[in-house]
Amino acid sequence: MTCEPHQNERPCGDRPTHEWVVFSTALTEGWLMLQCVECGTHGTVEDPSEIEWAKAFHAPSKPYHWSEDARIRVRPVGPFYVARTEHGYERIPREVMGRVIPVTEEEREDLEALAEVVIEGDFDGVLFALFIRSFEQGQGPNVSEPAKRLARRFEQWHSAGHASSPQMVASALRWYAREGARGTMAHQLLEGSNRMGVWSHFKRGDVP
Ligand SMILES: [Zn+2]
Repeated sequence: MTCEPHQNERPCGDRPTHEWVVFSTALTEGWLMLQCVECGTHGTVEDPSEIEWAKAFHAPSKPYHWSEDARIRVRPVGPFYVARTEHGYERIPREVMGRVIPVTEEEREDLEALAEVVIEGDFDGVLFALFIRSFEQGQGPNVSEPAKRLARRFEQWHSAGHASSPQMVASALRWYAREGARGTMAHQLLEGSNRMGVWSHFKRGDVP
């Protein structure tokens, strides 16, 4: 079960195997729902023990690693529900991911660059939305439509009382960049180049 560019020719790192994370349960079927946090491949464990089933009850708020690859039925690549963090894993909320509208190559690069800025600047969803809004109001680089769209969703997510880490924001940006670019072009990640471009000068302190 290798983690490599599979049916959709997606980049998924140089890993020899998937990095499986339990993120939810399918109540009706009694399955554990898993996803490779690296490439987005989905999977199910269809014979969980009672202890495993009980543990998975908490997976939506506390996703965790799964190492028994042989028990996983591999499903197609799908939307990202989990992100890797410094301390483990966390859910990516569906409300934030929403519907994906195709992105141009330029917009894709913009989203990838913003993801790096978010990590380097330690922006959570609120700061990211403020950051984008401050540029919409005139000064500095033009903000791409997909970035504005995601900023709105994080704003709404926070208004609804939820938190989001920089890792979650970056994962959402990267996921959107990747999914939005699919089908519109065969792309290669720009390895080794300075993808931060116009955003590279801005730091957390610039957010009003
Ligand atoms: Zn994988």
